[in-house]
Amino acid sequence: MKARIALIAHDRKKDDMVALATEYRAFLGTCSLLATGTTGGRLIDEVGLQVTRMHSGPVGGDLQIGARLVDGEIDCVVFLRDPMTPQPHEPDINALVRACDVHNIPCATNLASAHLVLSQLMLQRR
Ligand code: PGA
Repeated sequence: MKARIALIAHDRKKDDMVALATEYRAFLGTCSLLATGTTGGRLIDEVGLQVTRMHSGPVGGDLQIGARLVDGEIDCVVFLRDPMTPQPHEPDINALVRACDVHNIPCATNLASAHLVLSQLMLQRR
């Protein structure tokens, strides 16, 4: 079965997400990808990946991803958070990260952990 990965990046982290996805494009192209609206749009336009887009994070996209995760539809989350900027949807962000912990789903919240998680997933899928 394809790895099912959710990708989310806050505004100041979106360039990092595009660079990360470009680096892992070959692998990500074999995965089933889900993303919040704006992040997903950039991955489609700039990286050429096929991505199912949810609503944008601040209007509920994180919660939509959380609901899918609770239903067992997501294997891994890459959530590049911006720790320096207050977010209007902080409760939604916390809910998604909490859902990952409740359901024991890997959640990479910075680039270093994203590299570890994606490279390991890639090895497991060989
Ligand atoms: P976006 O949402 O990809 O639609 O910008 C991400 C977020 O802010 O949680």
